[in-house]
Amino acid sequence: MITAYHHAGFAAPLGDHVMPMRKFQLVAEAVRVAGLARVEAPAPIDEAALGRVHTEAYRTAVRTGEPRALAESQKFPWSPALYPSVLLTNGGLLAAARRALAEGAAAALASGFHHAHADHGEGFCTFNGLVVAADALVHEGAAARIAVLDLDLHYGNGTASLCGARPHLYNCSIYGNDYHANTPYKDVSVRRHEDGPNHRSYVLPNGSGRAAVLDALEEGTGELLAWGRPDLVLYQAGADPYREDPYSPLALDHDDLRERDRWVFAWAQRHGLPVAWVLAGGYTPDVSKVVGVHVGTFEAARAVFA
Ligand SMILES: [Zn+2]
Repeated sequence: MITAYHHAGFAAPLGDHVMPMRKFQLVAEAVRVAGLARVEAPAPIDEAALGRVHTEAYRTAVRTGEPRALAESQKFPWSPALYPSVLLTNGGLLAAARRALAEGAAAALASGFHHAHADHGEGFCTFNGLVVAADALVHEGAAARIAVLDLDLHYGNGTASLCGARPHLYNCSIYGNDYHANTPYKDVSVRRHEDGPNHRSYVLPNGSGRAAVLDALEEGTGELLAWGRPDLVLYQAGADPYREDPYSPLALDHDDLRERDRWVFAWAQRHGLPVAWVLAGGYTPDVSKVVGVHVGTFEAARAVFA
């Protein structure tokens, strides 16, 4: 059975915020009740692991709340509860990555990673747990090459910015027509971008459905394997491409997203690649529809890995 890492402390108290923090707990309960996963609590990430990716000034700001503009650069209202919660979400991702290396697949019921840069946060992402986990695994000799497969609606700009200095890391970002500030690529008629030897991105035009996503996955994973065979894939299983999401211009329903996830897991299994996934994005006001996308990812995993 898949292990899913969850901790009640993942959810920092944000008040009335567009980011539905309670989805973590709802997904944990849903997959446990449905017998889709064994839920375990992770340890917080250690500060040395954060320090390999994020500057001391930024880490200090998130811990202390000062300077406030930097502490809130990810657009969360700062409170003393923020730092412990992001230590836990980043620790959850690392625990899932280690478990995937041992067992082939695992999940962390956390999100908020791919927009975070070395020296500041963006877009509800405080620390970039994807890169923190990758660097930790390389540091401890558990893996040499890690690929991020990012299917959040939004372009993974933080991960992209961190790839440059990390030849052990590859980032593939397949995103919706991103009219927000996250992408430097404003001409959406250009479908594919190559930022360097270890980063590719592919834009899905407005209205894209299942076929467009699977085509982009085919191309993106092909280029990923041309970079080299990773020891581990970190999968951003975004719920914000869902057609009712307020940010989404795509035409993907629950079945389409479950099929996307099944495709990713079948690809990973076919190539013998361990995969750890996280719950990216998801802002549909009816949170049960967000939870439905994330539970669908577990159903896809069970179909492939059972
Ligand atoms: Zn997103």
